[in-house]
Amino acid sequence: MALNEYRRKRNFNKTPEPSGSKIKSTKNYRYLIQKHAASHLHYDFRLELNGVLKSWAVPKGPSLDPKIKRLAMHVEDHPIEYGSFQGTIPKGQYGGGTVMLWDKGTWLPQDENPYAAYQAGNMKFILRGKKLKGLWKLIRTGTENSWLLIKTQDEYAQDQAEYDVTLKEPNSVMTKQTMEQIANNSKKVWHSNRADEDTQNIKLAKKAKTKKTSSVSKNKVVKSVKKKR
Ligand code: MN
Repeated sequence: MALNEYRRKRNFNKTPEPSGSKIKSTKNYRYLIQKHAASHLHYDFRLELNGVLKSWAVPKGPSLDPKIKRLAMHVEDHPIEYGSFQGTIPKGQYGGGTVMLWDKGTWLPQDENPYAAYQAGNMKFILRGKKLKGLWKLIRTGTENSWLLIKTQDEYAQDQAEYDVTLKEPNSVMTKQTMEQIANNSKKVWHSNRADEDTQNIKLAKKAKTKKTSSVSKNKVVKSVKKKR
């Protein structure tokens, strides 16, 4: 996409003009981040490309501050359906620990050939998640698996000291649960044949909600208040 020149000339923190990061995509490539409390907490950053989830482990998680470059270790491709997994991988298994679906949405490549850009180790893209939005870059740094995840200056950029997205929005994008709640509540383990954990979890969450509200119906609340008086 040829907006580089347009963007280079503008500081979107100082002008109300659009950066062009809100344009609509015709393709919906999946983007997601799983917060993973394995032996070391990290954030698994995943982009759908050529039928798999290209994956990077980001030890410190993303930063919305363009001045901050976050190390992103390229790890093995994951299947697309892994992108809806949230739960606990049993101890002793590979990656044992709790996995939270931390952010989810789509990504829009800003390179004419996204796969070539990936192979060249220099990717530009727009994220449309719930937590991460706008322009980002993933740049390989020479050594084989080591990349950097960097926010590009636009209206979604934030000073790290003012807004640390990993601290401000620590919970699940899917269930709003904390890491601890997922660890405690999740008796489920990873079933590779379970097609859509996402839908399952949303259904479960809705069920739990309805139960709560129906057991404390309005009438009952009014009655109990009257009795007390
Ligand atoms: Mn991981």
